[in-house]
Amino acid sequence: MRLLPSRPERPAPLIRASRALHIGAIGVVLVRPHWWPWALSAVVADHLLLAASGLWPRSHLLGPNWTHLPPLAVGSAARAAAPAAVAITIDDGPDPEVTPRVLDLLDEHNARATFFCIGERVERHPALARAIVARQHEIGNHTHRHLMRFSLLGPRGVAQEIARAQEAIGAATGEVARFFRAPAGLRNPFLEPALTRANLQLVSWTRRGFDTVNRSAVRVLDRLTRDLQGGDILLLHDGHAARTPNGSPVILEVLPALLRALATARLAPITLRAALARASVPSLVSPAPDVPS
Ligand SMILES: [Zn+2]
Repeated sequence: MRLLPSRPERPAPLIRASRALHIGAIGVVLVRPHWWPWALSAVVADHLLLAASGLWPRSHLLGPNWTHLPPLAVGSAARAAAPAAVAITIDDGPDPEVTPRVLDLLDEHNARATFFCIGERVERHPALARAIVARQHEIGNHTHRHLMRFSLLGPRGVAQEIARAQEAIGAATGEVARFFRAPAGLRNPFLEPALTRANLQLVSWTRRGFDTVNRSAVRVLDRLTRDLQGGDILLLHDGHAARTPNGSPVILEVLPALLRALATARLAPITLRAALARASVPSLVSPAPDVPS
C-alpha cells in the first residue's frame, strides 16, 4: 500500500467561531438566565449558517476543500518541466457497462483520471476497481452507500460511511484512498473531523457537466470546456450516467471530445494524487476560496 503524509487537523474559522459561540451561549445562560432567548437565537442562527455552508459544495467554510488543483512547488525543477494539468474526476462507479469503456477511452488518449467510487459498488465489482488502479488511475472514496441523506448523518454515521468505503477500496485494490467526495457534494460539520482522522482530503470541483441529468453530450462538453484552465478539476459520472437520445451513456460521448480539447489546449489530465505529489506543501494544501459556481 502507498501511504501519503497525514493531514493535520485545522478546524475552519467558521467551526472555531461556532464552538466558541456555543460555549459563550452556555456561559451567558448560566450567568444571566433571563438572557436565554438571545443565546438561543444566536445558536439557531449559527446552525442555519452551518447548514447553508454544507449545501454549497464548493464552500471552504466547513474545512479544506479542493476546488482547484494545488499550485506546483515553487522554484522546483519539476515546476519548469511540468505541463499544465487538470484532473478529470469520475463519480458513482464502478459500473460494469460504462467503466470498462471509460478506461479504454482514457488509455487511447494516455490520460489519467480519479474515480470516486461507491464502496458497495467496489464490493460488487472488485475486478473493475482493480482494473482502475492497474491502469494507473486513482480511486477516491465516495462513501459506502452514496446516501442522499449523507449530510443529515451524525458523527458516527458519517465516519462509518467513510470507513466502510475505505475498507472496500483497500480490500479490492490494496490501495488506501487519499481523497473524498461527498454525495452531491453535500456536507455537514461532522465531515471534516472524520476526514482528518481517516487522512482524507475533501475534493469538490471547478466545473461539472451535470451529466447525470443532462442528456446532451454537446451541452455537457460545453459546460466542462468553457474557460477551461490549468488546475481545473472536472466532474463526470460513469455511474448514474444520463443517456443521450440514442441511448449511450453521456460520458462515453463527452470523453473523446474532452480529451481532444485538453490535448489541443496542452493540458495534461493527471490524478489528484499526482497533483498532490507535485504541490508546494503536499499535506497542507488548501486552495484559496473562490466564488460559487
Ligand atoms: Zn455521487
